Amino acid sequence: MNSRTPVTALSGVGKVKAEAYSRMGINNVGELLCHYPRGYEDRADVRLLSECEAGRKHSLVLVVATEPRVQMIRRGMSLLKFKAYDDSATCEVTFFNQNYLKSSIVCGGEYRFWGAVEQKGNKYFMSSPEIEPFSPDRELLPLVPIYPLTEGISRKQITKDITSALAGTTAEGDVRDILPDALRQKNKLCTLAFALRNIHFPSDFVSLAAARKRLIYDEFFTFATGLAIEGRKNRRRIAVPCPDTDISPLTARLPYTLTSAQIRACSEIAADMSKSNAMSRILVGDVGSGKTVCAAAAMYIAVKNGMQAALMAPTEILARQHFADISELFAPLGIRCELLCGSLTPAKKRKIYEALASEDKQKRIDVIIGTHALLSEGVEFYRAGLVVTDEQHRFGVSQRSLLKEKGEDTHMLVMSATPIPRTLALAVYGDLDVSKIDEMPPGRQKVDTYAVDESYRERLDAFIKKQVDGGGQVYVVCPSIDEEDEEVDIFFSDVDSEGNVKKDRPKLKAAVPYTEELKKRLPELRIEFMHGKLKSAEKDKVMLDFAAGKTDVLVSTTVIEVGVNVPNASLMIVENAERFGLSQLHQLRGRVGRGKRKSYCVLVSDSVGKGSTSSDRLKTMCNVYNGYEIAEKDLVMRGPGDFIRGADASHVRQSGGLRFKLAELCDDTGLLSRAFADAAELVSSSPELREYPELRAAIDEMFCFDTAQIN
Ligand code: ADP
Ligand code: MG
Repeated sequence: MNSRTPVTALSGVGKVKAEAYSRMGINNVGELLCHYPRGYEDRADVRLLSECEAGRKHSLVLVVATEPRVQMIRRGMSLLKFKAYDDSATCEVTFFNQNYLKSSIVCGGEYRFWGAVEQKGNKYFMSSPEIEPFSPDRELLPLVPIYPLTEGISRKQITKDITSALAGTTAEGDVRDILPDALRQKNKLCTLAFALRNIHFPSDFVSLAAARKRLIYDEFFTFATGLAIEGRKNRRRIAVPCPDTDISPLTARLPYTLTSAQIRACSEIAADMSKSNAMSRILVGDVGSGKTVCAAAAMYIAVKNGMQAALMAPTEILARQHFADISELFAPLGIRCELLCGSLTPAKKRKIYEALASEDKQKRIDVIIGTHALLSEGVEFYRAGLVVTDEQHRFGVSQRSLLKEKGEDTHMLVMSATPIPRTLALAVYGDLDVSKIDEMPPGRQKVDTYAVDESYRERLDAFIKKQVDGGGQVYVVCPSIDEEDEEVDIFFSDVDSEGNVKKDRPKLKAAVPYTEELKKRLPELRIEFMHGKLKSAEKDKVMLDFAAGKTDVLVSTTVIEVGVNVPNASLMIVENAERFGLSQLHQLRGRVGRGKRKSYCVLVSDSVGKGSTSSDRLKTMCNVYNGYEIAEKDLVMRGPGDFIRGADASHVRQSGGLRFKLAELCDDTGLLSRAFADAAELVSSSPELREYPELRAAIDEMFCFDTAQIN
């Protein structure tokens, strides 16, 4: 068995299960082994009945005190009941419709239970806990993995399959190892076999930390090597020069004057585009700093010099918004703009394809704006001169595939709204030149920010009501989608690099149940929810309704981070604010204060006023409003994980872009910089990675490009 062995080779995995796995992107043993747990249940932390916290699952070792009895309750339904005890108390254990357990539970036997303990008066109850025979000489997993699942794949199934995959791939070379051993030793990392075993079934927190470190390094290193290769390639790209860079006809039409930062960015862009070396530039600026008009200027230059331009946005709503803004600006200048999205009819799409490739100047589209539909096969340009992507995510990876498919020899521009700390710029931007818009257009309001704890709930509800009554709209952001997400006992991010578990993890607010509760408390308001698991058409509808003012309150996960402009929104509430990075909070805050309404941001967290790091971080948000300053502070307090994290997982997946599996939660700055240094060294000594086929394959997968074309 090796990485490429299909999952059907595992016993008990047939066609149906294989299809379910395939929906999660798992087709072979290698992909299965890289399907890491999203957290663990801490079953080593065995509690006494009297020590259990209400509403939280715990591990208990109990002795069964009575013969299990089956009781029929209704037609076809039954309860299995018995009593069990520990040194502190006795508990009644009940299983619903699980009679088959009867034969395996022996009175007098000792078992490990996992579940929530309920206390009524001085009596204890457990309902349908998980149960495993306990004996001192039999090892039980101390940390039980919790996997992201899909319909048709149970937790039991995937745990069993990963166990057999691990058992079947013990020989060297069975699993793809991208890391040269010299680098592994130099960085004091564990072997891949150890890492895989312990990421799935850690023997303790220290082993888990070692496993994570190794696998995160692998991701950083693959990423860094890919960027280094791409950088070498980029420097040699050529494009058609655009010598006519006078943008005054365009700027004369704007209802405002450009800020000096915008002027600087535009002239940097113009200087690049006038050369036959292709531009590879990233335009970074806070939300609302006015990047779009700079991109429009670049597109204008391309068109003026007889070339076409494309702009790709991560979502259909964003593409539509860009199209509305940009076509309005371009139409009077005789520049033909079209929108290409997945939702267009095939006939309309065909028309656009034809007009894009047309030889006829009159028929031809000059500027095409769209989603990843721009990557479809039918899209061909007559003469592509410039490719722009907006907030795609932070590395312009889809950018690369767009370039690759639609013409390598074009100028390219990436727009990003995430300010990056100076020390990380090289790592994150790779070999792109950077234009920074570090100045806001005049007259922008400051979004007043407050950090509060749960005791403010009633006042907060009243504040929501007040905003809506005054004609405003409200966003609420929750860290998770539904209750199921709360099962996670220990997140990766809860374990530090020494293997210590950070305690004081508050219960996470989840968008779906939160919406229900809020509706009950504020029945007169129109409240909707949105999250990454909704289909993109559903998401668009919820978002458009909100933008159109048909909804008062939008409860959502961070999917709105890369969102649409709703100038009427005046209040942003972030629940469990301690869960988010400062830069992310800043990004979320940027969703309000976009119009004339006085706007507010309220960060809700139990850590407020507790004198902890979390509480200091939230205080920072209330006092600092500059994205770069926040980014620098975030780096110091939280490490680089946030910056190299892809945007919302679902949209990254939909656009086929890059996504780290573990590294997005990493808080080790040193590991990242070492990976970059190691990658630079490796690529300079072996530019084609000839001796490293495994690494090349991993890069191809991560970036969706083909290292066979390095030269
Ligand atoms: P972002 O950088 O977040 O993409 P946008 O390009 O969407 O920001 O600009 C945000 C808003 O600011 C838009 O409504 C735009 O018309 C306006 N804007 C851009 N530049 C200026 C400026 N120099 N003066 C005034 N308003 C501006
Ligand atoms: Mg924008």
